[in-house]
Amino acid sequence: MSTRYEVPLPQVELSGFDITLSEEEQGVQQTMHRFARDVMRPLGQEIDRLPAEQAYLPGSPFWEYHAEMQKLGFGPEAMEGLEPAAAARLEGIVIEELGWGDAGLTVSTGAGGLPMTMARASGQQELIDLCEGKLGCWCATQPDRGSDGLILYPEERHPGSKGNKGNLHATFTPDEIIINGQTSAWVSNGAVAQVALVDIVADYGDGFYDEHGNTFGTNIIVPLDIKGVSRGKPLEKLGKRALPQGEVYFDNVRVPKRFAIATRDDYELKHAYAWAHAGTAMSHISAGLARAAFELALAYVHERKQGGTLLANHQLTQYRLGGLGIKVESIRAMARHVALYTKCSPRPHPYFTASGKTFCTNELMDVVNESLQLFGGAGLTREYPIEKMMRDARAMQIEDGENNILQMHYGHLLSRLHQQEGWGRA
Ligand SMILES: Cc1cc2nc3c(=O)[nH]c(=O)nc-3n(C[C@H](O)[C@H](O)[C@H](O)COP(=O)(O)OP(=O)(O)OC[C@H]3O[C@@H](n4cnc5c(N)ncnc54)[C@H](O)[C@@H]3O)c2cc1C
Repeated sequence: MSTRYEVPLPQVELSGFDITLSEEEQGVQQTMHRFARDVMRPLGQEIDRLPAEQAYLPGSPFWEYHAEMQKLGFGPEAMEGLEPAAAARLEGIVIEELGWGDAGLTVSTGAGGLPMTMARASGQQELIDLCEGKLGCWCATQPDRGSDGLILYPEERHPGSKGNKGNLHATFTPDEIIINGQTSAWVSNGAVAQVALVDIVADYGDGFYDEHGNTFGTNIIVPLDIKGVSRGKPLEKLGKRALPQGEVYFDNVRVPKRFAIATRDDYELKHAYAWAHAGTAMSHISAGLARAAFELALAYVHERKQGGTLLANHQLTQYRLGGLGIKVESIRAMARHVALYTKCSPRPHPYFTASGKTFCTNELMDVVNESLQLFGGAGLTREYPIEKMMRDARAMQIEDGENNILQMHYGHLLSRLHQQEGWGRA
């Protein structure tokens, strides 16, 4: 008589086929996951159902989330002292779990910490103090300056056209900076933030343009409780409703020149470097949200019977689950790859970072869409969180750069590497 041994199941972690996680990484992952499951997801769902004008008022679930997040004590300082590769991994693990909990709240935390990250990078204690304990935002896009703010090379513009100076400008005087205009309604945390990283076009005394029609830029840390700052109403929108968005208006807002952390000569490089680093977060959030949607579908097909048995028992369902699983793993692999390159390369580039964001958010959209499809009609109802995930994922194909534009920039970069460095020539 022969004995037949069953092949044992492979080892899997919370996040999937993640064999190289250290004990410490697993510990962080578990902690963040519990927070995402017990705090973030329920609060995110609550905020999602409120009208925008109520959702972010003092005492609302939005502020409860931030208070709980602060108690968790996992700020940028947690990464300090780590080797770049280890920091990239840990950051990915943390952001993936937060994205699993709620993609909008994760962005609120990420954008919320951006002024502080940049203040710390500047090394100026006054700016660090100014950002301490405050929720931040990143004021970059404006009503007339959306995708145009993401162009790095002049040849990417229509021939003969100049850079787009948009609707929000800084004018540098001998001792201060005067800011006038408005942001777009899309500024994450814009409706409620207490401090801003303002990333705009600047006039240093000889106009907004250089001799080639390129705009000059600046990055400034601006406290938002000063004279001349006002806000629009929180935006009503389809997805990421847990993330407050809205215009910030600047009417002759004056700040000392030392609040500028990037000016005429170093703006382009600092802007590109900051975008390359901050842009990796969207890919990790995609990994978390895709996994969350997939898990819901996986559970549902083990409950719902059609065709005489559980959906999970049909070969067609197994094929579809396989397709989803492949995508979830590939989103994570891409997210970690781009983050590792960006943290470890001597010359990271935002167009490469953006290629990861494009891939991960496009694949995410496919995953959430197909997961919802596995629910049939039930997926469209509010009884299941999958419909919210679908709306949240949709926003991510536009957020942080519209995906077609980002893919075009990446193609431009590949072409430049080929032309200028001979890369890709046999
Ligand atoms: C959830 C979310 C969060 C956001 N957070 C922030 C934030 O924190 N701070 C901030 O400043 N902004 C933020 N944004 C704004 C975001 O960066 C912009 O929405 C994005 O860059 C696209 O700009 P736009 O919406 O003006 O679209 P547009 O640039 O007007 O694009 C509209 C369409 O035109 C196409 N298009 C644009 N340019 C070209 C071209 N050259 N050639 C061919 N086609 C073109 C695009 O592909 C797109 O399909 C956020 C947006 C979202 C959705």
